[in-house]
Amino acid sequence: MIFVILNDYDCVKGKNEVIPRMAQLGIDNIASINGEVAIAWQDGTETYLGLEALRRGCPCATCQGEPDAMGRVVRPPVHYKSKSFDLVKMEVVGGYAVSFGWADGHSTGIYSFEYLRALN
Ligand SMILES: [Zn+2]
Repeated sequence: MIFVILNDYDCVKGKNEVIPRMAQLGIDNIASINGEVAIAWQDGTETYLGLEALRRGCPCATCQGEPDAMGRVVRPPVHYKSKSFDLVKMEVVGGYAVSFGWADGHSTGIYSFEYLRALN
């Protein structure tokens, strides 16, 4: 097996298969405890994220905006309710990210492991 380092984030395994570097890190355990999401990483570190900060950091286009033709990102107005900070669902997707579902019905944010580490 040959790994070619392309840059800080990606490596290539064989053909047409790009694996984000953080995917190799992985999560041992993730749980919602006392208003926080606790993540135990496979490298032994732990991350604790408050639910409100986690929701406000939702990386989806609805929450964070998309670049316009000039490449400028204008953050859209997001209206939160108290239900917006109630976590109802949590799921590891694709072995590289976590999807969170909130009591107000919002669930489009896919938080990569790398992003979750940076939110800490
Ligand atoms: Zn969002």
